[in-house]
Amino acid sequence: MAANDRCLFCRIASGEIKAKIVFEDDVVVAFEDINPQAPTHVLVIPRTHISTLDDLDEEEAGIVGMTLVRASQIARNLRLNSEGYRLVVNHGEAAGQTVFHIHFHLLGGRNFGWPPG
Ligand code: 5GP
Ligand code: ZN
Repeated sequence: MAANDRCLFCRIASGEIKAKIVFEDDVVVAFEDINPQAPTHVLVIPRTHISTLDDLDEEEAGIVGMTLVRASQIARNLRLNSEGYRLVVNHGEAAGQTVFHIHFHLLGGRNFGWPPG
């Protein structure tokens, strides 16, 4: 799907809205969360506008797969991999999704409880 000019994360991906970019390439953008829930809290998004996991098509498997690969590489580069980190996708309002452009929350630098709240 094309960029959505009303979507906050499309506007961050295009550079129209500033964010602390951690990594970007043709497919993926990663930036620091404005309201961090852990010492490291990075949002890893595809440039392609996909609203929720429920809107994901099989043709987008490559895009989302690469988003996941980049998230793991960023975690390794930030040295989160040895201690452990959490990668979270919230789907829908009951799970706390507030921005409707799919994103992985990469959280690290502290211990995480299970089950999650
Ligand atoms: P969700 O609640 O949809 O799973 O996650 C959305 C995330 O986006 C939240 O953790 C929130 O703090 C973050 N966020 C919302 N607005 C902005 C913004 O303008 N800039 C950045 N960097 N993060 C944002
Ligand atoms: Zn978007």
